[in-house]
Amino acid sequence: MCKRLKANPATQHIPIIFVTALESAEDEETGLELGAVDYLTKPLRAGILRARVRNFLTMLRQQELLQELALLDPLTEIPNRRALDRTLEQEWGRCQRIHEPLSLAMVDIDHFKSFNDTYGHGAGDRALRQVAQALTSAAKRPGDLVARYGGEEFVILLPHASRNGARKLCRMVRHHIETLAIPHQGSDFGVLTVSIGGVTLWPHRNGSPAEILQRADAQLYRAKNAGRNRVFWEEDTGEL
Ligand code: GH3
Ligand code: MG
Ligand code: MG
Repeated sequence: MCKRLKANPATQHIPIIFVTALESAEDEETGLELGAVDYLTKPLRAGILRARVRNFLTMLRQQELLQELALLDPLTEIPNRRALDRTLEQEWGRCQRIHEPLSLAMVDIDHFKSFNDTYGHGAGDRALRQVAQALTSAAKRPGDLVARYGGEEFVILLPHASRNGARKLCRMVRHHIETLAIPHQGSDFGVLTVSIGGVTLWPHRNGSPAEILQRADAQLYRAKNAGRNRVFWEEDTGEL
């Protein structure tokens, strides 16, 4: 039973305590080696069992909390790069199997170094949170993911969108962030803006998740060079 529970991903995290009449040291060693967290022999003292169960549940909850925190960016409280890498890997495989397109956009705040220099790091942090919220509120379908990829870079992953749908969502996001009207005197637009580069592709055996990130990044580079505050999508001939 213990072996089977430990072999199944759905149940392997459940702490197991053996309560048994087998009281030899060998039996205890076997039980613990099978993955049990504890081994109690009969006759049983109920208070001890209760206390051990309580302790293991506390440990389990702490572990779950840590796992959750490990996937969140502390500043913006949205998923971090580790979360993105994990989800992207899964979505890549899923889309490959069922021949669905996958869209990914890279979002980068324009002239953010100068924003920090002018308004201070605290204002920079607040702006990052506002941008994170704007992105998150736009990509809301099940399966969509917005992650903080690096300092002032975000990624939007859209597994269930058409190319046009994904591109349209990103155009709305760009516009939404401009209309937040966060003053930015170091920008040509007078307010904080973002540039977005995106790509829609059909994941292929020979490709990799790194490839979709690179290709979105190349489009972001185009958007920056074309003057910032715009969206470029792969295979577009010009600005959107
Ligand atoms: P570009 O339009 O080409 O993207 O220019 P940029 O200034 O945005 O690009 P650059 O990569 O030179 O600067 C990124 C800046 O983002 C530098 C850094 O001070 C700022 N930044 C990165 N992470 C954080 C953060 O957590 N908080 C704050 N306040 N600023 C950050
Ligand atoms: Mg950047
Ligand atoms: Mg930038």
